[in-house]
Amino acid sequence: PNQTVAVLGLGAMGSAIAARLRDTGHDTAVWNRTAAKTAPHAEAGSRAAATVAEAAASSDVVLVVLLDHGSVREHLEPVAAELKDKVVVNLTTTTPNEARSTAAWAAEHGLTYLDGAIMATPDMIGTPVSRLLYSGERAAFDAAHEVLATLGAADYEGEDAGLASLKDMALLTSMYQLFSGFIQAAAMMRTVGVPAVATAGEVSGWLGAILPHLDQFAAVIDSRDYSGGQSADFTRAAIGSLITASREQGVGADFLEPLLSRLDELSATGRGGADWTAVNEQLAIR
Ligand code: NDP
Repeated sequence: PNQTVAVLGLGAMGSAIAARLRDTGHDTAVWNRTAAKTAPHAEAGSRAAATVAEAAASSDVVLVVLLDHGSVREHLEPVAAELKDKVVVNLTTTTPNEARSTAAWAAEHGLTYLDGAIMATPDMIGTPVSRLLYSGERAAFDAAHEVLATLGAADYEGEDAGLASLKDMALLTSMYQLFSGFIQAAAMMRTVGVPAVATAGEVSGWLGAILPHLDQFAAVIDSRDYSGGQSADFTRAAIGSLITASREQGVGADFLEPLLSRLDELSATGRGGADWTAVNEQLAIR
């Protein structure tokens, strides 16, 4: 039989998860700080719980989908004893260290704990493009696997509870910088009347053609041999032109300026001839 599941938090994501679990034949109990949000779920067949402890009591697996680390600790700490024989899976977005801290707290209280990161939007949950990352106790991942697999591809990242969050944050870091680039490109093209929707098509096509280069950059970064490739000095000139062109159109180039500063540093320290991906070494905070 399917495992019984508690879903704590019925925001956009928790609601999508609860719906998916119902659709896949799971007995679900739902809890939300603002109790009114449980009503549509109760109508759809979930059991509405008045407290976290009540939701957990009837469940094998407890999925936590709250706002942030603070809200998770606020609501789990008072019920540590009630969570003892459950598998607690925290899907709330937290930093790696916050995940490690909650894992340490869980271990102290004898809880079976797994930290998760959702690489999906609510509408993607349960579809083939949904992917969730997990880290922490392997036994917790195995115990909850049937439930986790209904939400999307379930990837186990390792015993260090911070690993799922770290990969999530790294992927989102690259996503936001990519999207900021598009936002600036749209602002540049809008100065000559091109709508953002047209620029989006152009950017998609261009990025699709150029993305395979990531593998070459990665090989250089892994080898730490920056002797070949596109030099920092060449890239400095290119980025300098982009900044000038953007400003000429009356569009700030704020997102690119930090990259130019890092390339300037390479040049100033005699490494202008190095492959420009050497900037990755300057990001280390010493
Ligand atoms: P929403 O803003 O839609 O919902 C937030 C939820 O957190 C609500 O249930 C809210 O309860 C609850 N909440 C906020 N503060 C507290 C608190 N102090 N105590 C108890 N409950 C609290 O967010 P989402 O559902 O979209 O996101 C939930 C988590 O999922 C976040 O960590 C988010 O980063 C993550 N996530 C979301 C994605 C998305 O696309 N939406 C994608 C990937 C991850 P109330 O109704 O009472 O306000």
